[in-house]
Amino acid sequence: MSGSFPLPYSIRHSRRAKHLRLIAKLHGIELVVPPTVSEARALAFLHKHRDWAERKLSDMRARAAEFRPVQHLQNGSTLPFQGREVPLVVREHAERRTRIQYDGHFLVSVPVGSSEDLQHITRTALFDWVKVWMRGEAGSIVQRHAVRFGLHPRQIRIKRMKSRWGSCGPRNDINLNWLLAFAPPSVLEYVVVHELCHILHRNHSAHFWDLVARHLPGYPAERQWLRRDGADLLRRFE
Ligand SMILES: [Zn+2]
Repeated sequence: MSGSFPLPYSIRHSRRAKHLRLIAKLHGIELVVPPTVSEARALAFLHKHRDWAERKLSDMRARAAEFRPVQHLQNGSTLPFQGREVPLVVREHAERRTRIQYDGHFLVSVPVGSSEDLQHITRTALFDWVKVWMRGEAGSIVQRHAVRFGLHPRQIRIKRMKSRWGSCGPRNDINLNWLLAFAPPSVLEYVVVHELCHILHRNHSAHFWDLVARHLPGYPAERQWLRRDGADLLRRFE
């Protein structure tokens, strides 16, 4: 057991969790505790894996340090649209509504002398634009994949989601995190296919993963992207 400094951690009780888990976050290690596990046991677990946790934490902090946040959605910053950094141009125009256009770069035109916070306006406009764009993208992904095994969603909603990339409700409504617009296209495709496969298998059983693989044999690469780079993306838009 190494570690001369106290390891910052927080405990999150989760009814959905099946196992004890350690998640490295910027502010420290999050200990996810399922209902069947006592806090004492959870802390013993953290203690046992302290070296690993410290390593994870310092990796994550090093990555965060070299990371360009998009908190400042301003003229001249960039956005990783479809996984490629593209410029963001913000300008004023004489119209009364904010308009957003995409043509290899984002052009956001905001009303002259707007009293609202420019970042807020840009963010809202971007979200509205992405919603429309992503519904179209997701629609064609569904068209490509749904027919093979009859996996037809009732509807697709694009949402702001804090920690998940997608979900499939009991009535086969699929929700997608709008930030998938800022991941490589293959990642968006993977998440859509993943949720489509939940129409048939409401779990992550071997049958489920077999079905995903029949649609996208290379899916582990995209899963890996979400694990490795997904947290960065969420944080970048925090
Ligand atoms: Zn799933």
